Amino acid sequence: MSKIWVLGAGQLGAMLKQAANPLGLDVEAVDIESQAQLNLAADDIVTAEREEWPSTPATNQLATHANFVNLQTFPQLADRLTQKQLLDKLELATAPWFPVTEETSAEQLHQDLGERVLLKQRRGGYDGKGQHWLKSSQPSPVPSDWKGCAIAEQGIKFDEEVSLVGVRGKSGETFFYPLTLNLHIDGILYASIAPLKRLVELQAKAEGMLAKLMNDLDYVGVMAMECFRVGDQLMINELAPRVHNSGHWTQAGASTDQFENHMRAVAGLPLAQAQIKNQSMMVNLIGVPVNYNWLAISGLELYWYKKEVRVGRKVGHLNFCSGDNTALIKALTELEDLPAPYDQALAWLTEHLSK
Ligand code: ATP
Ligand code: MG
Repeated sequence: MSKIWVLGAGQLGAMLKQAANPLGLDVEAVDIESQAQLNLAADDIVTAEREEWPSTPATNQLATHANFVNLQTFPQLADRLTQKQLLDKLELATAPWFPVTEETSAEQLHQDLGERVLLKQRRGGYDGKGQHWLKSSQPSPVPSDWKGCAIAEQGIKFDEEVSLVGVRGKSGETFFYPLTLNLHIDGILYASIAPLKRLVELQAKAEGMLAKLMNDLDYVGVMAMECFRVGDQLMINELAPRVHNSGHWTQAGASTDQFENHMRAVAGLPLAQAQIKNQSMMVNLIGVPVNYNWLAISGLELYWYKKEVRVGRKVGHLNFCSGDNTALIKALTELEDLPAPYDQALAWLTEHLSK
């Protein structure tokens, strides 16, 4: 069988490779800085763990390969402006927005979008980086270096944040995981929980939205849709044309996880309607060192990315899956040594497990 190349060798690339292993697929993740000359065959397949990459001999080789799956979708979604235009074209609800141009003024944005306006860099933002709030209560101008390279969004007073991970195959078949409830603190994902009974009533609506997007793009593989829930409405915050942090719980809680389904899709293999095992939760490890004593916590599954620990950097995650919510809550009490703001994240998980 042909080899599958993953553009990007971060944790997502590593987990894609790991998931493809039992299937006997030959996978190689390529670092975006790689200067290597890759031994690409004509019938090999290329996928990516990220939306953007610098131009290097290796990335150019991959990005010009005829079997790079979804190649056109990456630039379209990597730019928030063209991503928002796609949502508008498909009439999918999203926060009202405007491009930020040389002429854009804060006054005009507040007039059009309201008192809280969020500027987002068109490219390269992640984990809340590349965001700038404008509040009419404390007037401030649009920073001059954001003009021409940002969009402005209405600040949404959402009830909570949910995401949907779906997969689409080469013949257009789609499968979805249950909606995931996510906690972001300062723009970065700290914890997820799925499935939740009370989100079931939103599932069909969410699936319809993501299916519409994947069909329009003739997309193959896993895509994630981050949403704001406002009452019984879903508003799309952003899309990721790849496996997603809010789907990491599927490694513990689903018969086939998001990583395996993505690899199946790009390889043209049958996809799985994953069986959901039990209640799952995920805790991101952000800027904290690994503690192997965690392995003594019943039911805990550790993923450590072997990255240098830096403030605000995702360096690993913890998954749990159990049919006994009391056991999950007990496991959380054993993580109480984690520094702030984990107190908030653990309290949030405990609250949702107790409902
Ligand atoms: P990611 O790491 O998921 O790619 P990101 O930093 O690229 O994230 P967003 O997902 O757009 O950017 O925003 C991060 C967080 O900021 C959201 O999860 C949400 O909590 C908050 N946020 C984003 N847009 C809005 C908005 N229009 N109104 C209110 N809060 C928002
Ligand atoms: Mg996001």
